[in-house]
Amino acid sequence: MVSVFAESRAHRAWGRVHRFVHHVARPTSPAAARTVLARRGQLAVLPYGLGRSYGDSCLNPGGLLVETRGLDRLLAFDPASGVLRCEAGVTLAELLGTVVGRPAPDGGVWFLPVSPGTRFVTVGGAIANDVHGKNHERAGSFGHHVRAFGLLRSDGRILRCAPQENAELFAATIGGLGLTGLILEAELQLVSVPSLRLETEDIRFADLEGFYRLAAESKDWAYTVAWVDCLARGRALGRGVFSRARHLAGSREAVRPPGPPRLSIPLDPPCSPLNSLSLRLFNALLFHRLGPGGRRSAIRPYPAVFYPLDSIGAWNRLYGPRGFWQYQCVVPPDGAPRTIARLLETISGSGEGSFLAVLKTMGDVPAPGLLSFPMAGTTLALDFPNRGAATLQLLARLDRIVLEAGGRLYPAKDGRMPADVFRAGHPNWQRFTEWVDPGFSSAFWRRVAGAEAAARIARAA
Ligand SMILES: Cc1cc2nc3c(=O)[nH]c(=O)nc-3n(C[C@H](O)[C@H](O)[C@H](O)COP(=O)(O)OP(=O)(O)OC[C@H]3O[C@@H](n4cnc5c(N)ncnc54)[C@H](O)[C@@H]3O)c2cc1C
Repeated sequence: MVSVFAESRAHRAWGRVHRFVHHVARPTSPAAARTVLARRGQLAVLPYGLGRSYGDSCLNPGGLLVETRGLDRLLAFDPASGVLRCEAGVTLAELLGTVVGRPAPDGGVWFLPVSPGTRFVTVGGAIANDVHGKNHERAGSFGHHVRAFGLLRSDGRILRCAPQENAELFAATIGGLGLTGLILEAELQLVSVPSLRLETEDIRFADLEGFYRLAAESKDWAYTVAWVDCLARGRALGRGVFSRARHLAGSREAVRPPGPPRLSIPLDPPCSPLNSLSLRLFNALLFHRLGPGGRRSAIRPYPAVFYPLDSIGAWNRLYGPRGFWQYQCVVPPDGAPRTIARLLETISGSGEGSFLAVLKTMGDVPAPGLLSFPMAGTTLALDFPNRGAATLQLLARLDRIVLEAGGRLYPAKDGRMPADVFRAGHPNWQRFTEWVDPGFSSAFWRRVAGAEAAARIARAA
């Protein structure tokens, strides 16, 4: 196919398993984005933020990726209400460096209402994956704080979407994986917090029961998350370290926004230093780092609490040239301890350890998006080095446990979930297809929606 757009192999997702050829456009204004869509010809379009999704939901092999980083203007900020308007390519890092920390009328300071574990994501990407943070139980997901956005469709129309305006398209776009159109700009509601420093506690727990006890006892803590040792077995199954944090009241001390990472992995190591020996060592160090008491309290500035992984640039290269698979599921509260135990038993029995194993509880706030991932229950996120068939077989076994429990997988973290797993976990998926823009597609979508949905969308075009 002859295309007016340059071809590139440079665009990858964070897990670095897939490498595809794309046509690429980089508009720097809403008008330029409209021109790009008008000139797309037969190419299927997909917006691309910073590629911090792990699998293939931000990839579109053979199609047109529209990079949004050029849409980077902060359009308005009202310090009285905390309402912010910006273009969709603005990053959370840029918001931290501009509006976050400005005084709010109640004596607090403005802060991001929800933040994922990295600040290097765009506002458009955060909406399209309806990202969640460590405060889901109290604050819901990113989409709960979106007041409105402007959505460019492939027919050139720009639709304003809000809870009361094009409401169903609004709900389809939040968590809609970039498939309903290109978000040009968004209006967000920031939250006022007492300060940018946090009171934190890290507490060791001996097993899964300990995790659930700490989660139940931490209702006055805004942010909670736990690391689990996924190599532990038997009575130690599910042991780990529980971390909780809340904004410190009465602190006037300024906190500087975080700068670029001080350390970066410049090249792909020929083979990964992350192997079963280093994993065993890493897990033992993490588990015992709190000393004999198993508990540590500290006051920390927000970057240390929210973005520890961002301190090393391109850390994903440590997995070597074959990359890694991330796996994140959520399972409903009924039976969650048993299901999480089955998942951990399956992982520790497989010998395919995960370096980052994160466990947290999610609240029962209704999801704002048709395909939003968060739901009430417990979520477990894991990173597995890509060892080919052995890793894929393990992930398929985990899929069955999640499905039996009535859970779902997170598309933002996925690069291989089969169609049946997607459909069972996202019961609104067919309703969602009504809103997919006929000019848009992705590798993920072609895999999970199948020919039948693609044909229906094409007929609507
Ligand atoms: C270290 C790390 C920690 C993370 N922690 C968390 C976490 O705690 N919680 C969580 O929920 N996620 C987490 N993530 C995942 C990450 O937050 C999401 O994948 C996020 O959406 C990535 O944003 P991005 O700008 O890089 O978008 P991309 O990955 O480039 O794209 C993501 C999706 O958004 C769509 N999109 C992008 N821009 C637009 C636009 N303007 N209009 C319409 N669609 C658009 C794309 O088509 C794609 O479907 C983490 C990722 C990393 C690397």
